[in-house]
This record gives sequence, C-alpha cells and structure tokens, in this order.
Amino acid sequence: MTDAFRDAARRVVAIDGPSGSGKSTIALGVAEALGLQMLDTGAMYRAVTCAVLRAHADPTDEELVTTIAQAVRLDVTRGVTTLDGEDVSGAIRGPEVTANVSEVSVHPGVRTELVAKQRTWVAHHGGGVVEGRDIGSVVFPDARVKVFLTASDEERARRRQRDEAAASRTVAVEAVQAAMARRDAADSTRAVSPLRAADNAMIVDTTGRIPEDIVAEIVQAFRRVEGSN
Ligand code: C5P
Repeated sequence: MTDAFRDAARRVVAIDGPSGSGKSTIALGVAEALGLQMLDTGAMYRAVTCAVLRAHADPTDEELVTTIAQAVRLDVTRGVTTLDGEDVSGAIRGPEVTANVSEVSVHPGVRTELVAKQRTWVAHHGGGVVEGRDIGSVVFPDARVKVFLTASDEERARRRQRDEAAASRTVAVEAVQAAMARRDAADSTRAVSPLRAADNAMIVDTTGRIPEDIVAEIVQAFRRVEGSN
C-alpha cells in the first residue's frame, strides 16, 4: 500500500447499517459538511446484480457471477451509477435487483472485486464518506470515524416504503418489512463480511431523530479525531 493510498484510507468516514437505517441521507449530509465525496457501495453490488440478471445468469452460480463482476465497467459518482457506460441508477432500485442482490453479494469473488474497486475509488478521491455493510469492519478498518446506524424495524420499513412510493411503486408496508427481514438475515449470516458493527464503531439509533443532528454528531467526531492526529 502506498503512502498516498494509506492517507486517503484514513480520510474515510465508514457508515454501515441495514437498509432503511438512514445511511444514504446521513452519508450525503456528512460528505457535504466535510467537503468529501460519497460512495454508495450498495449501488455497486446492485449494478453487478443488474448485469447478472441481464445476462440471464443464475445468481447462485459463483464462478459465472464472479466473472461478470470482474468483466463489467462500473462507476458510481454523485448519485449516478453506470454499468458499461449506461446509466442504470433507476434500474438498480427495481424489485428484481432488490430481490437478488443479497444472493449475488454473498460470493467471495464478487466481494474481492468490489472491495478492490472501493479502495481504488477512495485513493482516487483522497478519502470519502463510504456507506455499506462491511466498510468499517473489512474495507477500511483504519477509517477515521466508523458509524453503525440502526433504526426500529417499523421505521426502517416506513422509510423504504417512502422510497418505493417516490419511484412510483406501491407496496404494502408489511411486504416491505418482510422483504427487508429476509435481506437482513441473508446479509447478517453470510460467511464472508457479514453485516455487523466494527469493534470501535459509534452505534447510532436514528429512530425519531432528525438527520441534521446525526450528521452534526458524526462531523464532530471526525473533527475530534482529526485534531488529535
Ligand atoms: O445499501 P443497499 O440496500 O442498496 O445494498 C444492497 C445490498 O448490497 C445489501 O442488501 C447487501 O446484500 C449488499 N451490500 C453488501 N456490502 C456492502 C453494501 C451492500 O453486501 N458494502
């Protein structure tokens, strides 16, 4: 690892947590406050899933799915995700991708490929606010600040339902909650890089709190560590 790479890796705020915990909103707020770029790693796993589905590949076929993950050209910048140059920002939020993404992200070969891409992205941007499931525990264990967001099941389901409604998809809150529980179980019990809080992460329950407060808390923690270095 070069010095520049190591320095960039330290200018990272790692934000992990299950879906609906508020990661995207909080990560965006923290990135704006600190003048850093934000990387949504879930969008990367979703884009690979999109490529797998388009190739009519079986998401459980580890070898084939890994080959696809290695072959595609992915870019996630300022909220726009491209797959081999095509904007797939809308497609990766669709129900087919959401239903298959945990299956695709379980494969060690896929994770190795995407973790390398995430580290390159951070080196290229001189740091960043990186959100996902394994950022503080695996991808950037030396991140300056690590945050693990949680929220009550009901609130997480309501937030997801709002996202779906914003994309003109009507889903009952019970259905959202059931699908979320399935994805949480798959993400938390997989053998490689399961969803979990890093040992020294700040654990923040976002239920009923306004995002601005949480952003301020994280920015303060970043500045404190920065000042002590
Ligand atoms: O964050 P989002 O809900 O878009 O993530 C979609 C899926 O991508 C997660 O359910 C998980 O299976 C996978 N993921 C992952 N590791 C990450 C980010 C996302 O396995 N760092």
